[in-house]
Amino acid sequence: MKISECLKSGRVTVSCELFPPKKDGELEHVREVVRDMAALKPNFMSVTYGAGGGTSENTVRIAQEIESRGITALAHLTCVSSTKDQVARILAELKEKRIENILALRGDIPKDSDFPSPGHYRYACELVAEIKAHGGFCIGAACYPEGHIECAHKEDDIEYLKRKVESGCDFLTTQMFFDNNILYNFLYRILAKGINVPVVAGIMPVTNSRQIKRICALSGTVLPPRFKAIVDKFSDRPAAMEQAGIAYATEQIVDLISNNVKNIHIYTMNKPDVAARIMGNLSEIIG
Ligand code: FAD
Repeated sequence: MKISECLKSGRVTVSCELFPPKKDGELEHVREVVRDMAALKPNFMSVTYGAGGGTSENTVRIAQEIESRGITALAHLTCVSSTKDQVARILAELKEKRIENILALRGDIPKDSDFPSPGHYRYACELVAEIKAHGGFCIGAACYPEGHIECAHKEDDIEYLKRKVESGCDFLTTQMFFDNNILYNFLYRILAKGINVPVVAGIMPVTNSRQIKRICALSGTVLPPRFKAIVDKFSDRPAAMEQAGIAYATEQIVDLISNNVKNIHIYTMNKPDVAARIMGNLSEIIG
């Protein structure tokens, strides 16, 4: 099923994210993660690409595994991790395997990389245009309520986002944020620019404090004082930190749905137990 159709249904949707194995020896474990997450019946499951060294074959394999469990898969694809020729091959493979949803990204540029190089697409908008020209795919892309870390001016970032959407995006998924007011403000600003594809709100349940420091350094995401107090209080008690992180994410989602933000993506990483606890907290709300 094309994700754009599901996002326009007017019902609340919840999706989960996982990353593929970095080595073939870990494939069986990730298959079990897929099985356990699929049992929660999310509207779709996305599988990352290239981040932290994951290979394209494993992204496609895991996307297939998700579809075989009766759940729609969203395969990520990045400019950084694949040359233009590789992109062409992966698109053909996805089409052959009947995976029809792609999240088109530039990717994070590794240190000492010579990117952008002539053999690669430089910006996600170029990759979006290529996938659109290929035909038959539902295309998503990333957006940043706090502005992308490399872009000095938020207005420029939104201008580039508009170009990306006009290249052929059907929907957007946000970077994580910990203050819903930042998202509401962003939604007003992009609407004013004429960006009106569905926006899926990305929520990260923070279950350990090391993870959050690394992610914030990488993405520039701001920790509001209320959330920082939780991290400071519980960072040396892992079970308490996990419980507090799940409670905070649940509360964010309840507030989003109360304010009519109906499409929620949970950055579950490869933790079906965390996904299950959040979905359990929301059972009557998303029912
Ligand atoms: P772009 O849209 O290309 O933007 C990158 C930067 O260039 C921005 O600063 C933008 O303002 C600027 N820009 C855009 N267009 C132009 C232009 N025409 N001229 C000048 N400047 C321009 N990374 C992975 O490696 N694998 C993943 O699976 C992955 N999944 C992700 C999923 C989500 C939902 C999100 C939010 C991020 C994900 N990332 C992933 C991280 C992402 O790749 C990085 O944030 C990356 O730095 C930017 O990717 P992008 O697609 O937003 O890039």
